[in-house]
Amino acid sequence: MMFEQLGLIGCGLMGSSFALAMKRAGLVKRVIGYSKSPTTTQKALAMGIIDVEAPSALLAVSGADLVLVSVPVAATEAVLKSIYHIVGAKALVMDVGSTKQDVVKAARGALKEKMGCFVPCHPIAGKELSGVEHADEHLYKGRKVILTPTERTMTVQLNAATQLWTALGCQVQNMSPAAHDAAYAVVSHLPHMLAFALMNSILAQDDSQEYLSLAGTGFRDFTRIAASEPKMWSDIMMTNKDELLAQSKAFRRSLHAMEVLIQTGQQDALHDLIQKASQSRANWRMNDKK
Ligand code: NAP
Repeated sequence: MMFEQLGLIGCGLMGSSFALAMKRAGLVKRVIGYSKSPTTTQKALAMGIIDVEAPSALLAVSGADLVLVSVPVAATEAVLKSIYHIVGAKALVMDVGSTKQDVVKAARGALKEKMGCFVPCHPIAGKELSGVEHADEHLYKGRKVILTPTERTMTVQLNAATQLWTALGCQVQNMSPAAHDAAYAVVSHLPHMLAFALMNSILAQDDSQEYLSLAGTGFRDFTRIAASEPKMWSDIMMTNKDELLAQSKAFRRSLHAMEVLIQTGQQDALHDLIQKASQSRANWRMNDKK
């Protein structure tokens, strides 16, 4: 499988890493890139990520047989609307957004009769460091990629997307957009919300700087994801609002149960709750290849 031209919209961490991986794997001949600010696109050109800078999303897509939309999820609809007229009937159009129901809804409205070309994707890969400067050709290798095809998605496009991600070393799994959003609310969106909330609860205290200076590896590991990109995460939380709030409620119940046991001195019961969590976490393995 070889693509002639990748139209890359959003030359940040995910998009640039994808372009590098495609080039290194010999899966694409040319990459035309567009980003909101020209400095990003210039950096991508200087780093050899893209071959040509495009002045608009429309021009990045012109002549492309593969299109990757790698922008914050709330920008997806505007981007897809802006390229609708130029997308070829046989092009494969994908995104990498962290939420899928809103992306599918946006794509239906924007791509209309061309919706069949669109394969919604979510690579379970990334870093807390955004931006083109952190692009990494190995970002996707060994990682899971969730595809959430709709009833309109053409089989040929779905097969092409599956082959492409597999060729980049990914494990592909198909899910419905709703099942995807429910699952990632629990294992990704809620943990990010908790990490941000913990940082803010510390920062609200007078001695926060001293406390932070004393923190060790447990704090470092728990809060790593709190350094993530604010626009991206506020977008994700707003677009997966219902699922996230339901998980946040479930979490409060769990937290409250521990608070009650501590308050009432029930150490044995507290021990049992911790043991259950500890065993389950010790047995958990990330389901991908290293
Ligand atoms: P990023 O490094 O900030 O890149 C986003 C890029 O999109 C930036 O280059 C930005 O351009 C560009 N952009 C924003 N609005 C645009 C618009 N209207 N038109 C064209 N370009 C636009 O973020 P990222 O980490 O690559 O995230 C991209 C997507 O991947 C998000 O939807 C996110 O949910 C998803 N995702 C991220 C991760 C992760 O760990 N980072 C993991 C899985 C999925 P400027 O540089 O000019 O501002």
